[in-house]
Amino acid sequence: MTVDEATGVRTLRCYVGGDWVEAEAPGGALEDRNPATGELSALVPLSGSGDVDAAVRAAREAQPAWRAVPVQRRARVVMALREALWARREDIARLVTEDMGKTLPDARGEVLRGIESTEAAAGIPHLLKGENLEGVGPAVDVELVRQPVGVVAAITPFNFPAMIPLWFLPYAIACGNSVILKPSERDPRPAQLIVELIDGLDGLPPGTVNLVHGGRDAVDALLDHPGVDAISFVGQASTARHVAERSVATGKRFQALGGAKNSLVVMPDADLEVSVPAMMSSAFGAAGQRCLAGSVAVLVGDSRRQDEVLDALVRSAAGLSVGPGDDEGVDVCPLIAPEARERVVAALERAAADGAEILLDGRGVAGGPGEAIIGPSIVATDDFESDLVREEIFGPLLAIVRAADLDEALAFVNGSRYGNAGSIFTRSGAAARAYRLGAEAGMLGVNIGVAAPVAWFPFSGWKDSIDGDLHANGPDSVDFYTRKKVVTSRW
Ligand code: NAD
Repeated sequence: MTVDEATGVRTLRCYVGGDWVEAEAPGGALEDRNPATGELSALVPLSGSGDVDAAVRAAREAQPAWRAVPVQRRARVVMALREALWARREDIARLVTEDMGKTLPDARGEVLRGIESTEAAAGIPHLLKGENLEGVGPAVDVELVRQPVGVVAAITPFNFPAMIPLWFLPYAIACGNSVILKPSERDPRPAQLIVELIDGLDGLPPGTVNLVHGGRDAVDALLDHPGVDAISFVGQASTARHVAERSVATGKRFQALGGAKNSLVVMPDADLEVSVPAMMSSAFGAAGQRCLAGSVAVLVGDSRRQDEVLDALVRSAAGLSVGPGDDEGVDVCPLIAPEARERVVAALERAAADGAEILLDGRGVAGGPGEAIIGPSIVATDDFESDLVREEIFGPLLAIVRAADLDEALAFVNGSRYGNAGSIFTRSGAAARAYRLGAEAGMLGVNIGVAAPVAWFPFSGWKDSIDGDLHANGPDSVDFYTRKKVVTSRW
């Protein structure tokens, strides 16, 4: 890191071939500010094709030797990474809060989730085992083996700046690949610290893991580079589609996880003592900036029961504590930047103009020194196709629709172009089963607000929430980061 002596502000460096290097950064640098205070934390170089090319060369050079390291030793490197992350988990969590804004308890949870991915990936000798079939012909046997894809680029979003890099890095290296990580340019310091920890590991050859900073230009340089074999991406649906199209055009394997609009179905028999707090955390935790956030509540039943649930939601949301992520007891943290606050304000204005009813208006809460804070909002509509209920707003805004029964609720849920997640709140096993059977989304919760699969399962969005077939984490990662080879032999 280069530190400006006059201002004390650091310019982040890239990590290429085992060295921390200053980026050429033809695009200049971006300011990384603490969303709660507005303070400048670092300057993020906007790398271009030269920086990316250097990282890809280093990764290509390192990969054959890394691939040749026995798989148990690769697993031990992942275990050592796990130990290093565990030892520094509080420092990483604090950086997540400073850079991204989420509350410290939430940041700690994020880091733990990332560490769990290293624990899952450390099982790689089991996960990489192949298959065989003896006697498919006279003295003929068939064997399936898995070999690494080669050089992987991991491009990650702002909302989980520690966890999502850790969805990709441990599995990719465990499978014998080398990696170039390109974290979000808006909050890259947790990823920077993770790579610093990787730098300190024994047994990982220089160039196996590389880091480039930057935004669109760096991403496009990775997508276009012939030396990159596979792209792991998480971000907005439109960026995911761009990544998918460009990967197809350049012949790369890709997995591109996109945006979401998740519904929370509240059945008339739901236990409100369990459901309401779970819905608060789902809709307003991380200020609604989770791809698993429940952003539409579907109230099922007669209008009296619907009103009862709605009252409970509005009362509870009005009592949430809004403020900086490192203040004790805060429920709703700042958004990533002032522009994100403006986006939520605009969504509320649009909803009101379209005839929706604003039952709780977060605009009354001042933005704070970072101008990125907004209070929770609850907005009801009977328009099942409005932007309010169909487009991702990514802020602390819960939309409300009403449905007469579960069939009507499911018709609403399945009318979404997204299919990331969703939850049902009910005391009825039959309703929960019908929901599980019929809801078109890859991650479902029953009486759970944020149905995040643990690292041993895939993070399995459907529809426009993913481009590509293989998900992040779990066995899907092993499938994505390896190519299958089938050998037929006669002896
Ligand atoms: P984003 O698409 O703006 O950025 C993601 C990455 O792509 C960043 O590294 C960024 O530098 C790069 N990028 C941005 N615009 C680009 C462009 N035009 N061309 C090439 N590269 C570009 O996403 P974000 O705002 O950082 O993250 C929030 C989004 O991520 C939300 O939509 C959220 O739902 C989604 N998300 C999805 C999942 C999932 O599992 N499906 C998980 C987390 C976040």
